[in-house]
Amino acid sequence: MSDTPVRRTPWPDSISQAVVTPLQPSVVYSAQSPDALDGQYEGRSQGYTYAREGHPNADVLARKIDALEGAEGGLITGSGMSAITAALMGVLKAGDHVLGGDQLYGRSLRMMREDLPRFGIETSLADPTDIEALRAALRPNTKMLLVEVVSNPTLRVADMDGILALCRAHGVLCVIDNTFTTPLGYRAWEAGADMVIHSVTKLLAGHSDVTLGYVATRDPDLRAQVLTCAVTLGLTPSPYDCWMAERGLYTLELRYERACASAGALADLLADHHGVESVLYPGRADHPDFARARTLLITPGNMVSFTLKGGRAAANAFTQATPNLPFAPTLGDVATLLSHPASSSHRALSPAQRADLGITEGMFRVSVGLEPPELILGEVKTALDQIAP
Ligand SMILES: *Cc1c(COP(=O)(O)O)cnc(C)c1O
Repeated sequence: MSDTPVRRTPWPDSISQAVVTPLQPSVVYSAQSPDALDGQYEGRSQGYTYAREGHPNADVLARKIDALEGAEGGLITGSGMSAITAALMGVLKAGDHVLGGDQLYGRSLRMMREDLPRFGIETSLADPTDIEALRAALRPNTKMLLVEVVSNPTLRVADMDGILALCRAHGVLCVIDNTFTTPLGYRAWEAGADMVIHSVTKLLAGHSDVTLGYVATRDPDLRAQVLTCAVTLGLTPSPYDCWMAERGLYTLELRYERACASAGALADLLADHHGVESVLYPGRADHPDFARARTLLITPGNMVSFTLKGGRAAANAFTQATPNLPFAPTLGDVATLLSHPASSSHRALSPAQRADLGITEGMFRVSVGLEPPELILGEVKTALDQIAP
């Protein structure tokens, strides 16, 4: 027994082992001696020092996502955006140019438009389905290209083979945000990405109860720069969140398979209803990138977008007719979620800018979840019949 409750109580001995990954919230680790600590800092022995610099729950999660991507040495950060921050701020310097896809995640677009330029980093955007547009946008100082494989909310499929070849030919780092597709839909690392990013918040963790990111970097020198940047800027993840996300990953394959199958069925149901003007799903032959999706993607995914006839009024009526499908702007949750880009993710754009992207007042994006498929399809059909009898 300790002589005072202020001293930490030793962990009980057990010759049998816990089967579940332990949660280790310790901020600090005590070293055996200054010499032993030298050994850790100089890489001669493995050990943790201070949680901002790394902790076991982040490493367990990182190795699991590495295995899914076929990657090595990935880093867990406190959010998807902090993974993007670490990738960009760890590698770029004033005077460099970054080219981005023109339909990146909203905050990534903001970082390109507003934040990187404040640090003297040049940015521009181009359509990632159009390789000639990307080629024309390259500059002599282009260091990096940041792209998402499937765009939000129009679900356009980037010309990834063309982009990877273009980057290789021009010595540009190809950074792929693989959040929408997950490693089960697109093998970003194996395809040759220089860096792969995930918002673990979404499908990987899968329950909308943690905020985390992941970034893997191929070049060991750049990987060290990204890690130093993350530690210095304090982009560290919470051990509890890492532990929760690891728990979520055990069921990723089951969840994704179910959600993708239901998404395909939902897309067909929507396309057959007279109240629906158009459907966007990369697994349907009427999608503009259907041919590319078939060769590039392992599955067309769990996201479906569609446009109702009748604009904003029909959109209001539809959300009211679907009380069991939360109108909430995230994706990859256990529940099927509706998003209305014109009033949420893309509200900062002018109507003309939205029209350019194909986002209208009648448009919804559905993140298909894990409910029994007939329940999702039945509720959507009932709602459509109600608003467009
Ligand atoms: C959500 C998302 C992000 C940001 O991730 P957070 O975990 O919310 O910071 C980045 N990229 C894509 C494609 C996303 O969907």
